[in-house]
Amino acid sequence: MNTVFSHFDERLTRSLSGALDDAHDPAQARPRLLVVDDQPANVQALYRTFADECQVFMATGGEQALTLAESKQPDLVLLDVEMPGLGGHEVCARLRANAATRHIPVIFVTAHTHVEDERLGLDLGAVDFIAKPINPTIVRARVRTHLKLKRQSDLLRSWVYIDGLTGVANRRYFEDRLASEWRRSQRDGTPLSVALIDVDFFKKYNDGFGHLMGDECLCRIAKALKTAGRRPGDMLARYGGEEFVLVLPDTDSSGAREVSERVHRGVVQLGIIHATDAVAPYVTVSMGIATKPAGVDTPAEPLVDLADRLLYQAKSQGRNRTAYGEAMASEGLPKGGAGVVEAVEVGAIGGAG
Ligand SMILES: [Mg+2]
Repeated sequence: MNTVFSHFDERLTRSLSGALDDAHDPAQARPRLLVVDDQPANVQALYRTFADECQVFMATGGEQALTLAESKQPDLVLLDVEMPGLGGHEVCARLRANAATRHIPVIFVTAHTHVEDERLGLDLGAVDFIAKPINPTIVRARVRTHLKLKRQSDLLRSWVYIDGLTGVANRRYFEDRLASEWRRSQRDGTPLSVALIDVDFFKKYNDGFGHLMGDECLCRIAKALKTAGRRPGDMLARYGGEEFVLVLPDTDSSGAREVSERVHRGVVQLGIIHATDAVAPYVTVSMGIATKPAGVDTPAEPLVDLADRLLYQAKSQGRNRTAYGEAMASEGLPKGGAGVVEAVEVGAIGGAG
């Protein structure tokens, strides 16, 4: 689901810059709480209990709760068990069944605290129970505990997807994200572009300046690439070694060209001095961009393969340039390459000579 990723990206960014971001935007940093109860008086009571420390979303029915859980991505749900229509147990089961809401912890709020009720609730994936009528002090303490646990698990989940050196997403995240963007592009009939980016003569750079400088070079380039793919849906990941990948949803060939220009310009403007026998005085990159035009039906992997072949082409034609290609065939990409392949020379922008 796209909501899961856009929210996750936000989390990823937040967990990386941590306290800094929180200081910038206290509203963002406040935990999100979804309160669900068919009795408006109960919802109001819980709202008053948490309004100071949480962003509180309220629902008075099961369907509304599911919609809000998916769109608002709360950190915790306080869920009434007894509701007309869609009851709390069913809501909990559906939250678990949906990939976009699976990770959101649920606390049941119920007048029925028999062992059997609790067992059923726990089987459904609830993390805790709170007895009605609620005691604000107890509810607050329980909620704080579970919000803390949620923060920790979010952080752990984000580390799994972060590249340790550059702090951008890693290859695992790229693969998950590509699959999801792929489905969206198929469903909505929108174009999708994948850009593979490789630092030119990086081995020479490492040999000439050492691995520490090499690492720093990669970090600076990652930052420049992040700025180049700057729309909210664009996603940068480290693909491996000195290779990065940009996933560009809803981007056709001409959009991909604009991104390519920003990438080349951004990297050269870093002004990282390169080894004397490299392609330019400053560090440059080569790119292969494969585009799946709107309405063209091809699987995801061949598009990445195509981007890879295009990157190779950009390299072999002199580096510091981008080769573009479009997927055409409905039964998959033709073996030899793409429908349209074109290498565009960039030249040394801002170079000393
Ligand atoms: Mg009720």
